[in-house]
Amino acid sequence: MNQAVSLAKELIKIPSTAEKPQALTRVLQVAQLRLKGFGVRKFISDKTPSLLFYPGKTQPKKFKLLLNAHLDVVPGKPGQFNPSVKNGRLYGRGAQDMKGGAASLILVFKTLAKTLNYPVGLQLVTDEEIGGTNGAKHQLKNGLTAEFVIAGEPTEFRINNQSKGIVRVDLVAHGKTAHGAYPWRGKNAVSLVTKTVDNILKKYPVPQKEAWRTTANLSWIKTDNQTTNKVPDQAEARLDIRYLPQEIKTIKASLKDLVALPVKLKFVAFEPAQFTKSTNPFIKKLIQATHKITGKKPKIYSTHGGSDIRLFNARGIGGITFGPIGGGLHSDQEWVDIKSLNTYQKILTRFLISYT
Ligand SMILES: [Zn+2]
Repeated sequence: MNQAVSLAKELIKIPSTAEKPQALTRVLQVAQLRLKGFGVRKFISDKTPSLLFYPGKTQPKKFKLLLNAHLDVVPGKPGQFNPSVKNGRLYGRGAQDMKGGAASLILVFKTLAKTLNYPVGLQLVTDEEIGGTNGAKHQLKNGLTAEFVIAGEPTEFRINNQSKGIVRVDLVAHGKTAHGAYPWRGKNAVSLVTKTVDNILKKYPVPQKEAWRTTANLSWIKTDNQTTNKVPDQAEARLDIRYLPQEIKTIKASLKDLVALPVKLKFVAFEPAQFTKSTNPFIKKLIQATHKITGKKPKIYSTHGGSDIRLFNARGIGGITFGPIGGGLHSDQEWVDIKSLNTYQKILTRFLISYT
């Protein structure tokens, strides 16, 4: 049987969702069994395991190329952990995102890594779906570095070089309570908060349809007040803002400028955007390799949601996501195209060999 399919099936059978640390360890063991004879560094952070493979016994100071895959999946129905093949497609939770791609990366690494005259690594993590803090980020904090990273997320052979960053803010207001019939005697905290919300939504309006620009979503407005005839003296709101990569250094200040005093703005989350220039030499080579194998020049594109690549970019390491064809992302009918797994391996092989 097709090696990538049989390995992907083994990986899919393990329900490696974020809340099951034992399953995360087991899914990594499946990969490790296939990579006997390679150097491996084991990481664990907050019960989240991850691995880093390299050809020799010791970890290279800096990888020229790093292949990255996440082996965690979003939760699924029990039947989804029983993979099946139909009409050239492999079905199962994670088939597309991204155990199909991961199986291909593992096989390419296994076949080629020891024959290349430059350092190549394979990183397998288990927390991409929940932010990557204890996987990719933890490894980066502990001495991992590289010139360029490819994550095998499903992109249908297109190259994703940028995605938006995330800022989450809380707006908190304290006003003055009064009887609802005498509102001038109080200071309405809900009104104070909504004024700032309006300012933010005016600057970052919701586009009529998909558009490549910064957006803000008002997640909630809350107040402790449950009485109708009272001026609320406390209120808070949360906004989920997705900013463009070029705003990474300015977005916080821009938001602060929109606050209507005395509302206080608190940053509750800040995730870097993903960005690597489309003229990056590694991207150019990958375009050539893809063109040669598929006969088509791959598109370079942007996404609204990010991947672990942003964590590398935040440290000045170039990287993209690039992977096979599939469908039904995070749904009950998730699949990966089997032929595309073979094509994917051929492209990566050509790409890796082009540096020798
Ligand atoms: Zn993914």
